[in-house]
Amino acid sequence: MAEFNPWQMALQQFHQAADVIGLDDTMRDVLSHCQRELIVNFPVRMDDGSFKVFTGYRVQHNDARGPAKGGIRYSPDVTLDEIRALAMWMTWKTAVVNIPFGGAKGGVAVDVDKLSPRELENLTRRFATEIAIIIGPRRDIPAPDVDTDAQVMAWILDTYSMHAGEWAGAVVTGKPVELGGCPVREIATSLGCLYTTRRLCQKLGMSLKGAKVSIQGFGNAGLYAAVLFAQDGATIVAASDTSGGVYNPKGLDVQELVRVKRETRKLINYKDADHIASHEVLEVDCDILIPAALEGVITEANADKIKAKIVSEAANGPTTPEADQILYERGVVVIPDILANAGGVAVSYLEWVQNLYSFYWDEDEVKKQLERIMNKAFDDVFSFAEEKKVNPRLAAQALAIQRVAHATRLRGIYPP
Ligand code: NAD
Repeated sequence: MAEFNPWQMALQQFHQAADVIGLDDTMRDVLSHCQRELIVNFPVRMDDGSFKVFTGYRVQHNDARGPAKGGIRYSPDVTLDEIRALAMWMTWKTAVVNIPFGGAKGGVAVDVDKLSPRELENLTRRFATEIAIIIGPRRDIPAPDVDTDAQVMAWILDTYSMHAGEWAGAVVTGKPVELGGCPVREIATSLGCLYTTRRLCQKLGMSLKGAKVSIQGFGNAGLYAAVLFAQDGATIVAASDTSGGVYNPKGLDVQELVRVKRETRKLINYKDADHIASHEVLEVDCDILIPAALEGVITEANADKIKAKIVSEAANGPTTPEADQILYERGVVVIPDILANAGGVAVSYLEWVQNLYSFYWDEDEVKKQLERIMNKAFDDVFSFAEEKKVNPRLAAQALAIQRVAHATRLRGIYPP
């Protein structure tokens, strides 16, 4: 089997969605390329005094509707193609939830488990300096993603501000609350996932109360999804991380699961459950499946085995186009990534607005605004899907592409 390439998948999805709205060739050409791609190879001083060269990327797919926006991930497997795909998905994501941003993504090929805290800081500050030529509060605003967090954002904020010679808090989102971050940001992706899933349950006449939920991945997105879905009355029957999966058809104790993950870093240390392989959580008996780990995990090889009625994609790109079609034909409703996990970027937008205004709302106000944004986006996507008779992913992407293409036409191609 050919190796999974996220960029090829993103392009394939793009062209399918562009067909839905009959996008013209010029716009197809413009939007199927990333506007700006920066590759940096930079040395970092290690604790033993030696230097090691790391490779990083910042890709801006499109900024027609506003400054580019997207996370930075640290992962040994990061490639330019992966970052391109994620940047393109960010463009569709910000357009689908209708916030005034474009799409970008960044990454460094590094295994953070092999770095000391000081090495992590050195790497982050040097990477921030390398990409400072293209990021900025009104140009491109990074945020946390896989293996980066609020502390990493704080170092980027500080490094950028030192060079700018002024406070530049709005250069990143997902930063610590004490530095202008938003208290809701940490749970925002999962909260957005909950709001859209709740809306779909209402639409399907299903109740979230008592619904069985299985979650792949137990980091920021997966852990808070478990907590929030359980708070809403759902039963979490399975969860996994890189250490393996745990499954109990009667339900897992979420508080205990969180404790085990936080204290031992390994979910398989949770006792009261069957131990299964990480990928098996995708196939257990459940009503709602939340992939919250990596790309390309639901494929034509396992799409037939998915028992859930709803797949809420907290992760980016977990379902391949072939699997999408299989799920659609089987009547499994997928809330596509660019909608289901857009809560993170929606709250990032609210954080950014507050930074620019230096005026801060309370948590309830932020949650209220997030729910309004997510419900509106959900309704837009599902009405578009019904109107065009296509699956929700195609609808979400087609709607987003339509919005971005429209903005691009209004701006015009420069020079005329
Ligand atoms: P994270 O690093 O906090 O957590 C990733 C989790 O996935 C970890 O628990 C890890 O053990 C697990 N994992 C990795 N490989 C696995 C495998 N093969 N099987 C099972 N589990 C595995 O990352 P995150 O921020 O939670 O991001 C997860 C996904 O959600 C990514 O696709 C990311 O792009 C997406 N996402 C995150 C946010 C956010 O705000 N954090 C927003 C939008 C989308």
